[in-house]
Amino acid sequence: MDDRPAVADGEVLLDVRNLGKHFPVHAGLLRRQVAAVKAVDGVSFSVRKGETLGLVGESGCGKTTTGRMVMRLLDSSFGKITFEGQDITKLSQKRMRPLRRDIQMIFQDPYSSLNPRQTVGAIVGAAFRLQKIDTKVPVKKAVQELLELVGLNPEHYNRYPHEFSGGQRQRIGIARTLALRPKLIVADEPVSALDVSVQAQVVNLLEDLQDELDLTYVVIAHDLSVVRHIADRVAVMYLGKIVEIADRNDLYERPMHPYTNALLSAVPIPDPAERENRKRIRLQGDVPSPLEPPPACRFHTRCWKAQDICKEKEPPLVELSPGHEAACHFPENTTVSATDLVAAQTAALKGQAAEASVVKGEPDDDD
Ligand code: SF4
Repeated sequence: MDDRPAVADGEVLLDVRNLGKHFPVHAGLLRRQVAAVKAVDGVSFSVRKGETLGLVGESGCGKTTTGRMVMRLLDSSFGKITFEGQDITKLSQKRMRPLRRDIQMIFQDPYSSLNPRQTVGAIVGAAFRLQKIDTKVPVKKAVQELLELVGLNPEHYNRYPHEFSGGQRQRIGIARTLALRPKLIVADEPVSALDVSVQAQVVNLLEDLQDELDLTYVVIAHDLSVVRHIADRVAVMYLGKIVEIADRNDLYERPMHPYTNALLSAVPIPDPAERENRKRIRLQGDVPSPLEPPPACRFHTRCWKAQDICKEKEPPLVELSPGHEAACHFPENTTVSATDLVAAQTAALKGQAAEASVVKGEPDDDD
């Protein structure tokens, strides 16, 4: 296991409060809104400088939509995003432009995210030109330094993307991202399109770059093994909500939410003896539609521990041990008594009500 210490203290770089995205569904001749897909439905988390937060969950849980809202590639329906103390939730595109350098994204598919008609030099160099970054050396030299930094041969400056392997193309994408000297990188499934043999190399590269360049990451992934390797803290999402968030080791060793337990029970274990002893939890049914998520606890339709209260009352996210929060009426691996849990949930619901009343700012008018 990776035993890097988690970033326990430090300045918060990104703070997300009660963030949500509902996509309207229209029907009829007048295209009236008849429903809404609740892709993200009130998530809150913060990321400290130099930290890596893993955002995990099954496909459709809202993790990518959350990442896109943080990037401001998608407007949120409600909630608040604060970056370096500045509320960026409703900043116009014009006012976001200087911040685009600071918040960058690494895309999932290294094949489609690079222009096949451009050389590597042009792709990476475009970042300098578009953002008018003043390099201390000629752009070609600056690009070659970046290629070297991500483990590519600087002599390959004039080659085209098709001349590289998948792992090398992802490195080109990373070099392009680094050209802007970002502070925060949102990496959306950065290794899922790569062969298993090269996944570890790219994950190691991201870790090395973090140390070298003081980067902060939000890593979105469905693969818990990848997140275990790279993240300091992990947030587990289910149907648009965060159901558990904790330091990596704590979450993997003492998962409190039944959904996290089920996900972890499916992670491949290389050791055959350990594999034999592990109890696999097989979830029943599919993930319900975000058009009509189940009431109260959204996981109750698939949870083997569900009781009546789970169908009647939504459990808020509460801290059950230092830094470890879970949203469940019957959490596992905790010594918190039922009475204390109810008291914590009541207090959390009051706090949530205050958070939900975050003033929805209007977009700036200087677009
Ligand atoms: Fe399962 Fe109930 Fe916990 Fe939801 S609140 S995860 S249904 S035990």
